[in-house]
Amino acid sequence: MILILKANTDKNGDEYRQLMDFLSNLSNIQSRVHDEIGTQQTLTELYLVGDTASLQAESMESLPCVERVVRISEEYRVLGRHHDDRRSTHFDYNGVRFGQDNLNVFAGLCAVDNPEHVELMLQALQEHGQQCTRMGAYKPRTNPYSFQGHGKSCLPYVFELAGKYDIKVIAMEVTHESHVREIHEALEQTGHPTGVMLQIGTRNTQNFELLKSIGREPDFPVLLKRGFGITLEESLNAAEYLASEGNRRVVFGLRGMKTNMGDPHRNFIDFAHVPVIHRLTRMPVCIDPSHSVGSRDEDQNGIMDVFHVTAQGIIAGANMVLVDFHPAPSKALVDGPQALHMNELGYFLEDIRVARDAYEKRVELARQHKQVTAPAA
Ligand code: PEP
Ligand code: MN
Repeated sequence: MILILKANTDKNGDEYRQLMDFLSNLSNIQSRVHDEIGTQQTLTELYLVGDTASLQAESMESLPCVERVVRISEEYRVLGRHHDDRRSTHFDYNGVRFGQDNLNVFAGLCAVDNPEHVELMLQALQEHGQQCTRMGAYKPRTNPYSFQGHGKSCLPYVFELAGKYDIKVIAMEVTHESHVREIHEALEQTGHPTGVMLQIGTRNTQNFELLKSIGREPDFPVLLKRGFGITLEESLNAAEYLASEGNRRVVFGLRGMKTNMGDPHRNFIDFAHVPVIHRLTRMPVCIDPSHSVGSRDEDQNGIMDVFHVTAQGIIAGANMVLVDFHPAPSKALVDGPQALHMNELGYFLEDIRVARDAYEKRVELARQHKQVTAPAA
């Protein structure tokens, strides 16, 4: 059960003390406090766990400070959507909105290689009105002898160049909590010219200690990729690890499943799960067409599979697209063959607009259908 308290409840006030005294006397029930600090107000939510079945929602609603009660009927306590749940389905970070109702494109380099390529990428993004990108500094590689990413040495120039081209958010994978410290330090050193969304890759989806430490991280939102060999439920529980430690600014990323059933694609595309995640949780959903498809193969019309699956995810309501581009793919140190080329950026963004328009029309059509078929009051 979640008790949503009145906005700006004073934690030093008598009413709050009375409420906490009452809760501490309930047997077999523990409460956990979550504060949502916004620019206008602070919202406090109390999560009651344990033997809550006997509690009456109506009587809990009459307790001091309590505005509303949500009974949790499903898993994913913090990030899930529950019955009568009107908690928000978006968050803002560094001036960018991430919600279940909007769309951001993160085109960029799979792996940072040199300042020249980073600059060409960021400049092109600005020219196309983009404010987000992906830039890999820490690369988890299957082969220990493959390029592992430039790590912290590239961060200062990546952040400075992002600031120069007005890029507000960089999705950047981390594989160890020390990387988060290095990102903090580099942002500090360069004067915070941009923001970072920490990316947890598919190989770390169930690295619970990493999830817990990033969950305690107050400054950065997180993109959590689905594990490539586990169920959706297991991956959603991994996202809940982040939230249970306090970080609720989580985007859930689909990137395909590892099985030969998806051949010739690198992974079996799982974008049919976009609406499922919208239904079960309050997280915005990201799709990664590059790592799903893994090639530049195209159909008889010249449309690449990467474009097709992007459109499929967006027409189902995806909220973020993470996609590999490179100014000189033959020189890319990681994943060059699947990268889109700079002269394809405008075309890709236009194709996305076509799919997003179609999604918005579908939403409107569904709304009209509901109105016509709703039983008379
Ligand atoms: C990536 O986005 O660079 C990446 C390695 O993705 P994944 O974790 O989905 O393989
Ligand atoms: Mn890659």
